[in-house]
Amino acid sequence: MDSYRACVDQTTALLAERVRSLQRPYSGASLAQLQAMVDQIDLDHPLPEPADALQEVARLYLDHAVWFHEPTYLAHLNCPVAIPALSAEALLAAVNSSVDTYDQSTTGTLIEQRIIDWTASRLGFGPAADGIFTSGGTQSNLHGLLLAREQCLAGLPGDRHTELARLRVLATDQSHFSVGKAAALLGLSDNAVVTVATDPLGRLDPAALGGRLKELRAAGLVPMAVVATAGTTDLGRIDPLPDVADHCRAQSVWLHVDAAYGCGLLVSPRRRRLLDGIEQADSVTIDFHKSFFQPVSASAIVVRDRLTMRRISVHADYLNPRGAPVPNQVDKSLQTTRRFDALKVWMTLRTLGADQLGEMFDRVIDLADDSYRLLLRDADFEVAGAPTLSTVLFRYRPPGLAADDCDRLLPQLRDRLFADGSAIVAGTTVAGRYWLKFTLLNPDTQLDQVRQVLELIRDTGRALLAHSDTATPEVYVDAHA
Ligand SMILES: *Cc1c(COP(=O)(O)O)cnc(C)c1O
Repeated sequence: MDSYRACVDQTTALLAERVRSLQRPYSGASLAQLQAMVDQIDLDHPLPEPADALQEVARLYLDHAVWFHEPTYLAHLNCPVAIPALSAEALLAAVNSSVDTYDQSTTGTLIEQRIIDWTASRLGFGPAADGIFTSGGTQSNLHGLLLAREQCLAGLPGDRHTELARLRVLATDQSHFSVGKAAALLGLSDNAVVTVATDPLGRLDPAALGGRLKELRAAGLVPMAVVATAGTTDLGRIDPLPDVADHCRAQSVWLHVDAAYGCGLLVSPRRRRLLDGIEQADSVTIDFHKSFFQPVSASAIVVRDRLTMRRISVHADYLNPRGAPVPNQVDKSLQTTRRFDALKVWMTLRTLGADQLGEMFDRVIDLADDSYRLLLRDADFEVAGAPTLSTVLFRYRPPGLAADDCDRLLPQLRDRLFADGSAIVAGTTVAGRYWLKFTLLNPDTQLDQVRQVLELIRDTGRALLAHSDTATPEVYVDAHA
């Protein structure tokens, strides 16, 4: 007990001191510097005192971590964490429960099931719903599509291996890349993922979906699942769920909704209606570690009908002896030993409460709206359409800079910012053009801080353009014209 207390006390003291003195999301150290530092550690010879190891980790890790809770970290779908979840994280790591079987977790299993049931009721699912915590949206998507595959194969006449080749998954080019990965892991054919066209905002076009479904049937292929996204990773768009659900119901096709990003709307006091239609999904991916402000990892797959989950149960005598009247979560999971991540969501709901959590997500969406308007008014920037959630895509493109030159400038600009460390933004390609991206997930970030980052981008962009004669002479001709 004494060594536990000393360990935790020293750790929290160190972290609190570091966080207080932080000024920027990243130190700006180069990969070569960090690689040399890490390589130089002799793992075969421990340090004399635990405190020495902690200091060493502070130097290697804390000094150069990317700090998501710094207000000028605006890059990826990472959140600053809800403090109550950290208390849960400390508890579940120390107790080390594994929520695969009841006899390794007892109330852990029951708490996880309550969080799943609570999430299902927020989704609008009925009493038949069920689900399981997973390691992340990637695994949740795989799990959802696995259930879809099993459901689909159960209704087909031929043998599994022949039928597998006929299965198709419908998604858009804005769907998460894990959908393609899942299709490959599930043994589907190389061209199993069929792209459905989107509207100009990047949302699945229901008419195009109807057409695709018809084409597939006519070709003797079997639509196994439609993947709709509630919060696309780049544009934050939400596919028209009610219309997609209509098509799926009419054609008896499994509807998987990937709400890894948009799931925070489930608790939003002002924007819950954006998820209308999600109650018609067969399976839903929820990433608590995105818009529920939970530490990595905390994700779930939730299904409308619990029976669909049972198709993948396998039996292991040492884990789930027959006839034992206890809930063994391993029957539903792709994992065996599994973290009790649900405790983090539980502590957050019992401390902050659902409304406050939803208000935090609403706040970052408001900030995205304000940032969008700021960009609209600025002649040096182009901005993609008005945001739905909390991502904003924009280009630093001062008057006179050709679009192609801008495409070459922006990745350099982004790298330059990262190497400086005072602000971090993401980058992505949409319709062949390179865009800078803000993903706003810090409820404490103020518009002034966004403005500050835009000024930094402008200054950095100007400096790069001014020095472009020597760096890449041919690139910025238009800018000098
Ligand atoms: C982040 C994300 C995923 C993947 O989730 P991980 O937790 O990173 O595995 C899947 N789908 C969407 C839409 C996402 O934004």
